Amino acid sequence: MEHPENNEEYKGLVVNSGVEQPSIVNPYLQRGRFARRRLTADDYVEGILKGNTAILGQAVTLVESTNPEHQAVAQEVIEKCLPYSGNSIRIGISGVPGAGKSTSIDEFGIHVLQRTGGRLAVLAIDPSSEKTKGSILGDKTRMEKLSVHPDSFIRPSPSAGSLGGVARKTRETIILCEAAGFDKIFVETVGVGQSETACHSMVDFFLLIQLAGTGDELQGIKRGIMEMADGIVINKCDGDNVDACHLAARQFQNALHLFPMPDSGWLPKVLCYSGFYGLGIKEVWDMIYEYIDFVRQNGYFQHRRAEQAKYWMYESIHEQLLSGFYNNATIASLLPRAEQSVLDGQKTSFIAAKQLLDTYFALL
Ligand code: GDP
Repeated sequence: MEHPENNEEYKGLVVNSGVEQPSIVNPYLQRGRFARRRLTADDYVEGILKGNTAILGQAVTLVESTNPEHQAVAQEVIEKCLPYSGNSIRIGISGVPGAGKSTSIDEFGIHVLQRTGGRLAVLAIDPSSEKTKGSILGDKTRMEKLSVHPDSFIRPSPSAGSLGGVARKTRETIILCEAAGFDKIFVETVGVGQSETACHSMVDFFLLIQLAGTGDELQGIKRGIMEMADGIVINKCDGDNVDACHLAARQFQNALHLFPMPDSGWLPKVLCYSGFYGLGIKEVWDMIYEYIDFVRQNGYFQHRRAEQAKYWMYESIHEQLLSGFYNNATIASLLPRAEQSVLDGQKTSFIAAKQLLDTYFALL
């Protein structure tokens, strides 16, 4: 067999030629048909449908790219993968920083993989990551067991753009992951309302992780977020914290009884567990599977997905209108003057906006 270093394709891959250590790049892996040349949309689709996670990762990078050429390929890939998507359960997992999301996701992930086999993708929605540069969600280093599991795929939050843009990319990534055979999707999120709403709009079950401790846990939580939850779990139910967790669970359960019955017909449950010590994990997943069975039988599962698809159509219209407007060269040139005239009090905000919009629509 030809020595890899004589191979033209391999040559470009030697990072430290002349250094004694052999390259860590396995040359044989690079010689397949996916090596080097730019992949077409069909190449991506073929790789994804074969379950190739390297190709999947590259396709997700395209989805996240703001380059119009990449976007065009990404949209073609998504469209071709769409018929192969949908066959999964999608779980949203939310909680404030420190609630124990990554510790729990590591445990939950290993539990479901042992329990039902298959493949698990962990994605994230974190609109703040653009500012903080470097996401704190979906970070592999925070999920020690899952990150080395052969059947898991962990992807941090896309970092570019508005919450709407970040959420759209996560939703599109779900489609690609499902087409690649991932039958369990976790979407991790943190926030004070909006990112939870975005996460809720793309999952089948929304799990809210809470902490006990202060005795008035309900004070800090917004009603809207509680109403979104299909299950509330009180984490860190271990050591001295057990009684406080049970008290908090009772408070949450009582509060949930005061809300109207959700459309799903499922009264959300409240459970205690410890992600760190691996206690009560099975019960959390018994609850989730019970919910999935329940809503599959009463038709709500499909109804919720259809409603979500409708929601995303409108989100997409909003996003495209906004980006079309702001990326228009004429509008971009007029905006600073319009802004100044509003600042100077020469025009009202409404008039300035209307004039810009009239100009934009007249250009189309
Ligand atoms: P995240 O910010 O929500 O992802 O939270 P982390 O998973 O990073 O956990 C935050 C801190 O809480 C870490 O120091 C964890 O070790 C700790 N922690 C997480 N789960 C538990 C638990 O079940 N019990 C206890 N006692 N500590 C936990």
